Amino acid sequence: MSETPEQRDIVIVGGGPAGSGTALALQRLAPDLARDALLLDREEFPRDKTCAGGLIPATLELLRSVDLSLSVPSVRVDHARVEAGGPPIELDAGGCCYVIRRREFDDMLLSAARGRGLEVRTGVRVRGAVRRGDRIRLETSEGLIDARAVVAADGAGSLLRRRLVDPDEGWVARAVMCDVPIAGSDAPDTYEFDFRDVASGLAGYAWSFPCWIDGDPHWNVGAYSMRRRGEGERLEAIVGGRSQGVAERKAHPIRLYAKGRSLAAPGVLLVGDAAGVDPLLGEGISFALEYGRMAAEELQGGFLRGDLAFSGYQARVDRSALGKKLRRLALGARLFYGPRSDLWFRVARLSRTAQRIGMNWYNGVGLWSQSIPALPEAR
Ligand SMILES: Cc1cc2nc3c(=O)[nH]c(=O)nc-3n(C[C@H](O)[C@H](O)[C@H](O)COP(=O)(O)OP(=O)(O)OC[C@H]3O[C@@H](n4cnc5c(N)ncnc54)[C@H](O)[C@@H]3O)c2cc1C
Repeated sequence: MSETPEQRDIVIVGGGPAGSGTALALQRLAPDLARDALLLDREEFPRDKTCAGGLIPATLELLRSVDLSLSVPSVRVDHARVEAGGPPIELDAGGCCYVIRRREFDDMLLSAARGRGLEVRTGVRVRGAVRRGDRIRLETSEGLIDARAVVAADGAGSLLRRRLVDPDEGWVARAVMCDVPIAGSDAPDTYEFDFRDVASGLAGYAWSFPCWIDGDPHWNVGAYSMRRRGEGERLEAIVGGRSQGVAERKAHPIRLYAKGRSLAAPGVLLVGDAAGVDPLLGEGISFALEYGRMAAEELQGGFLRGDLAFSGYQARVDRSALGKKLRRLALGARLFYGPRSDLWFRVARLSRTAQRIGMNWYNGVGLWSQSIPALPEAR
């Protein structure tokens, strides 16, 4: 291991959508800073990530804001079917979701950032992180790095968050999924959410999303619980039942947003799962990109002022459309999966207009699409 630590201004740890999203936004806002930034990931890319890969339409706007379009195979979903007790709710909603494979999507984002000049080192694991004066020292599998600012994009189990921001696990969900081949050559254009297990105590739902895997249509079948512990076997059973037990199942935690939890410390910004995402449905890709935009703004301002305490980041997130949406989703999770869930599902079943408004709000389309302004280009 090298004796003299490498010196960097900015190190982004994690090359998922939160890490790449931060880099892409920084390249747009502050190209000089981005040129000197370094991104590390323990995996070699393309890498798999346990995820259903459903992109809400707002994600496409977020991509556009950094001059990217969806250039990997995807299934466009035009119909939603929701089981919530009573007759199924069917909604026609063109382009309400685009289902991708994370192996391809994450590689697309990271390659774009690399192509725009970001230095990326894959296969490098961060093993430790400590504060040393006004620097953060990262102990990596390839030596020491001292950084003036570190972006923790290292996912649900974020080592950087635990070591430098908040040792507490926080609110962590669990999701289990598998991919089931579909006979024929077409992928369906409908996805399904099934909340019927809430009535017997599940704090979550099951889903079926159509997707392409290596050119063949599949259902991605999964189940989510906003409780990490105690529902693992149940989630496995739900997914096993919906897939006739034919496919290999994979499970992964999702770290959820909880109001008041620290999102930063001097020299450190949390983004994506490390910061916390949607407690209601466990959606995290669009949030990862949105956190990345905010972290880039925070870095830009911090380096300009010469103040890397990042004391304004939490308030920036709280005040933003992202913060407001996450707080509403946290409330929604407590209501829909709480002791009066039957009441809230009855209310949700009442009005098609309300269902459509709720879906548009969730997807960030129509009235809500303005919440994603294009990133101003640096002069
Ligand atoms: C089963 C399941 C289904 C889901 N379905 C959806 C969905 O349909 N739509 C949606 O929007 N969200 C979904 N999510 C949530 C989504 O996957 C996450 O919110 C999203 O991946 C968060 O992105 P991220 O960049 O913060 O973290 P990640 O994508 O987890 O990326 C973190 C990166 O950090 C790297 N890393 C970690 N530790 C280290 C270290 N010590 N050193 C170096 N590198 C490190 C990892 O290798 C990884 O590449 C699902 C999650 C699960 C578990």
